[in-house]
Amino acid sequence: MLRSFAKGLLTSSVAAARRTMSHSSLSGKVAIVTASTDGIGLAAAQALGKRGAHVVVSSRKQANVDKAVSLLRSEHIQVTGTTCNVGNREDREKLVNLTVKECGGIDILVSNAAVNPFFGNILESTEAVWDKILDVNVKASFLLTKLIVPHMEKRGGGSVVFVSSIAGYQPMQALGPYSVSKTALLGLTRALAPDLANSNIRVNCVAPGIIKTRFSSALWQSEDLVDELKKQLSIKRLGEPEEIGGVIAFLCSDDASYITGETVMVTGGISCRL
Ligand code: NAP
Repeated sequence: MLRSFAKGLLTSSVAAARRTMSHSSLSGKVAIVTASTDGIGLAAAQALGKRGAHVVVSSRKQANVDKAVSLLRSEHIQVTGTTCNVGNREDREKLVNLTVKECGGIDILVSNAAVNPFFGNILESTEAVWDKILDVNVKASFLLTKLIVPHMEKRGGGSVVFVSSIAGYQPMQALGPYSVSKTALLGLTRALAPDLANSNIRVNCVAPGIIKTRFSSALWQSEDLVDELKKQLSIKRLGEPEEIGGVIAFLCSDDASYITGETVMVTGGISCRL
């Protein structure tokens, strides 16, 4: 009698654990995160990995890839690493082929890479600047998605998340071409979502505010500038990469199973849309 009571208790607690785990767990999933050896990409890889996904990390420099792989392994995350400059077609193909070969398929793409080679008056930006920004920030996101969709279809579905920016809604001063590229990602999210829904693939986007990474260091290294920025924030501090990583992992999980074509702003309350 005691044994059957204990068995019942165990069965119901396992069932309860399964119920609580099942929607946020990414166990058995394979996730590619681009530009994931630092900042927001690395935090997204950690968040996905902690929820059980096997993450494939990459960036341009082998030394950065090695460092990120060691860190993630030390956190008991299943990880594969390779170099990939997302602006390069051969690198994108290598990333996808390696993932399929080593991990057996692809369920999640987080397209996070971006460059900004230009600060200044938009009218002074050159064709070369526009080519670089659009190639890396926009075209590579689309072309990588196109390469990965057939592999997601083989798995019965998947999830794509683009990393845009608050600058995509409100162009930042001196960052005109970069801001326009981030607006394009909002459009890409909306354009892909209806078509890919037929393949059970959700397409979403996050738009971070000012997050403390190397990329944004020019904005937060001066105390005066930070004080000025804080005036626009409801939460009176800058964001941390983990605060974007968690939202990305949520969007990739079954907790977000009815969300597609959406952009989630993670800005500490900077107001730029209703
Ligand atoms: P970060 O900390 O400076 O990290 C950049 C990462 O990108 C590094 O791992 C870098 O490694 C890699 N990388 C750079 N160019 C690459 C390329 N062409 N191909 C592949 N990897 C590349 O930057 P972050 O702030 O996390 O930015 C990540 C994303 O968040 C970007 O899309 C950015 O626009 C967006 N975002 C950032 C903020 C912010 O405040 N930080 C705000 C809004 C949006 P290697 O040098 O080894 O390539």
